[in-house]
Parts: sequence; C-alpha cells; structure tokens
Amino acid sequence: MRKIIHIDMDAFYASVETRDNPALAGRPVLVGGDPGRRGVVASASYAARVFGIRSAMPMRTALRLCPEAIVIRPRINRYRETAEQLWTLYQSYTPLVEPVALDECYLDVTVNLQEIASATETARIIKHQIREQTGLTASAGVAPNKFLAKIASDMDKPDGLYVVKPTQVEMFLASLEVDKLWGVGPVTEKRLHTLGIRTVGALTELPYERLTGEFGKFGHTLYHLARGVDERPVVPDREPKQISGEVTFDQDVDRMETLRQELDRQAQIIERRLAFYEKQGRTVTVKVRYEDFTSITRSATGTVRMTAAADIAQTAYTLLEKTEAGTRPVRLIGVVVSGFDLPDTEQQEIPFPTTET
Ligand SMILES: [Mg+2]
Repeated sequence: MRKIIHIDMDAFYASVETRDNPALAGRPVLVGGDPGRRGVVASASYAARVFGIRSAMPMRTALRLCPEAIVIRPRINRYRETAEQLWTLYQSYTPLVEPVALDECYLDVTVNLQEIASATETARIIKHQIREQTGLTASAGVAPNKFLAKIASDMDKPDGLYVVKPTQVEMFLASLEVDKLWGVGPVTEKRLHTLGIRTVGALTELPYERLTGEFGKFGHTLYHLARGVDERPVVPDREPKQISGEVTFDQDVDRMETLRQELDRQAQIIERRLAFYEKQGRTVTVKVRYEDFTSITRSATGTVRMTAAADIAQTAYTLLEKTEAGTRPVRLIGVVVSGFDLPDTEQQEIPFPTTET
C-alpha cells in the first residue's frame, strides 16, 4: 500500500507576487496576459476569486467582473526560483517527487527519508516548512494513490490538509461528484448525467461491460477509479546533477554545535538520496545565510567520491569553520554534494581546493 501526498500551492503566481509586494495583501490580484491582447488569467488571488474569476479566463472578462483588480505580468523566473526551493524541500523527504506543474507535485512517502511513520504528519511538517521557507501556503492531500491524493488536496483549499485513509476510500468516493474523477471532462460528465449517474457511488453500480461499451477504453479506467484503484507510480522526472538539503531555522542560530548537528542531519538525508540514485560526489558545498540575508557558500572537492554521511558531514564541518558562523547569527544552513561525474584521483593527499562564490 502506497502513501502519496499531493501538494498544490495556493494561487501560486498571485501568492508569490503578494509575498514580494505586501501592499497587495488581501487585494484582487491577477497574474496573466495583457487584456488588450486577449491575454488570459494565469493565476488569481483568493480576493479575486470571490468575483467569480478563475484561471484560464480571458483577462478582459476577469476585469469586467472586477474592474479594480491589479493585473501583473507573469515573472516566470521568480516562480521557478520558488519552485526549485520547494523541490529541494520535498527531496529531503523522498526522492520520489513528481512535478506536475510549477506549483503542483506528487510525493511518494511510503519509504520516508526522515523516517516519519505517518504520511499525514509528513504533510503537516512540509506545509509548515513551506510557509517558513517561502512565506506561501500550500494545500496537501494524503491518500493511498495519486488520483485520490489529488482530489484530496482540492477538498480543503486554501492552506488545506485532507486525508483519505485506505479504510475511508469507499466512503470518500461514494458521495463525490463524478466530474472530480481524473479524466472526466464536461463531455463525459454530461453523458454520465444522461445515464442518471451523478456520484462516484452511483458509478460503481454500472457493470464493467456497460462502462466499456459506453466509453471504450476510458470505461475501463472509470471502472477502476470509481473503486479507488490507481496503480500509477510516482515517477521522478529528472536525474539530479547535485543533491542538496537546507533548512531555515525558526530562530537564528549562533551555536556552532547546533549548526554541526544540522549538518549531520542533512548529511544523513543526503546519504540516503545518493544511495537511491546510486550516485557518489566529490564536491561538498556548505551554504550559509546570515541574519541580514547575505549568503555565502564554501566548497571543497576531495580526491575520492563520497557516499557516507560521516564523510560528508566531516567535510561540511571543515567548510563551516571557513564561514562567520558562530560569530554571526545564521538564518539558513545547507549542504550540497555534487561532482558526480568527477573520477576519483590517484593521489591520496591533495589539499582541499576551496572556492568562494
Ligand atoms: Mg495551485
């Protein structure tokens, strides 16, 4: 039985814009194309949705519904930056992260890198960390498969956490409207309504042959979805070029011991992720962000590729000594292991070349 979390950022683009410009807080914000050039709404803040505005709606229509809305052109690179940050965060829980869009992804936490037994607890912690690290809210759905997790994340938006336990699947689906099912668009929905079927519960009463006769191949899918069956795995979409982890502290830290403990913890997670991808890296980088938001990195490339947490942590400690940590309060600390393609060198004792960026 899988444990899947679907995470969907709430009004992602509009929320990033509002975070970056607090004067927009609580106001109807539309991110999207030029209304004069038939642009569409890519993202609408919740204050804008009250007026009936939805994404993919023509900007002109949206402005008719809410003339005082603030229109912002998309800054995709900015959203991508935040998405990268989120991706790094998710990776510290599982290497099985499948992005669906910049603001949406699936996590398979059946095996959890941080050994948190409950998927619900994992989702709660991730939501908290998203807020701490990005200032944004997300909605999470927890379920035994992807399609249920996706429906669940939509149940309690924004800032939601909705759980469908394996024992609750049948009850959860029984009263659900058929249009919530994956792949059921307006056309299929209408045909189902014509057959007198409005809920998933009603759909389970149609025999398999009837469904395939009516909908062909999709009837087969419908039959299984209606019973909560979805075997699609979470497929990570890319091989990492580096593996990293970082944490933003709730309160700035000046104790070296605390920082070393965090490096240890990161190194252990990185060790498991390296093992998952069957990677080894020769370069270790430590990233430190001070209380005034200035960041520095210190890197070292060793002679042999590392896989063990202890080796990574040891190198990271040395690098930490080369920062002002301990004398300046630290807001964020991170570790990166890279250099997967570098071959081991023969010499045993070359000193660490250290680079600064
Ligand atoms: Mg979203």
